[in-house]
Amino acid sequence: TMELLNNSEKLSVAGQLAAGIAHEIRNPLTAIRGFHQLMQKSGPKKEYFDILSSELSRIELILTELLVLAKPQQAKFTNGDIVAIIYQVMALLETQAIMNNVRLLIRCPERSLFIMCDENQIKQVFINIIKNAIEAMPKGGDVLIEIKRAGRLLVRVSDRGGGIPQHLLPRIGQPFYTTKEEGTGLGLMITNNIIENHKGSMKIESRIGSGTTFTIELPI
Ligand code: ADP
Ligand code: MG
Repeated sequence: TMELLNNSEKLSVAGQLAAGIAHEIRNPLTAIRGFHQLMQKSGPKKEYFDILSSELSRIELILTELLVLAKPQQAKFTNGDIVAIIYQVMALLETQAIMNNVRLLIRCPERSLFIMCDENQIKQVFINIIKNAIEAMPKGGDVLIEIKRAGRLLVRVSDRGGGIPQHLLPRIGQPFYTTKEEGTGLGLMITNNIIENHKGSMKIESRIGSGTTFTIELPI
């Protein structure tokens, strides 16, 4: 984690992130530049505009996700109900789940569970993790979300997707590491960052072919 790094190493992490951002944004910019030149020569065309629009959306998405990362410094901690937050996230992702034939199931013995947290950030954590679980099952299936208190607060999100190969687990959460065509590889980096700011932890267990479980622990 960042805390274990000394100052010069922290700089190099920032440098790596900067290089990643530059690289990820240069790709769509290069495409935009190219199609812009093409249109100067051969006039406007619907397909060109569509490509310009999707490349611009790509840059927008990357910047939107990065802004979440910039916010932990101004976190607003209040007494938030984790159960309510997770129900909100489920409602938010319901359409995407239905379109992918995924059922979001919840198992939670308590009606509410309050912790000191920045509600928007914690919401972002569960959006990222549950979204990944849905995306891990392109043919559909169940995502099980379990909430319980065991000294600390435990939230477990399990899918029945393809799983993550053991040797790739260390790469999960590294900036821009993605295996998805449309992925940014920023979701879990941001998630780790927020959880760290809440003095919590995240654990990943995965088995190829049978699925992945993310366990988030937060202090109550
Ligand atoms: P993105 O979703 O944009 O790819 P994330 O940081 O959210 O970025 O995830 C990084 C990578 O971790 C994903 O591309 C995927 O390879 C892997 N991953 C995350 N969650 C799961 C999951 N539930 N099942 C399988 N792989 C996952
Ligand atoms: Mg993701």
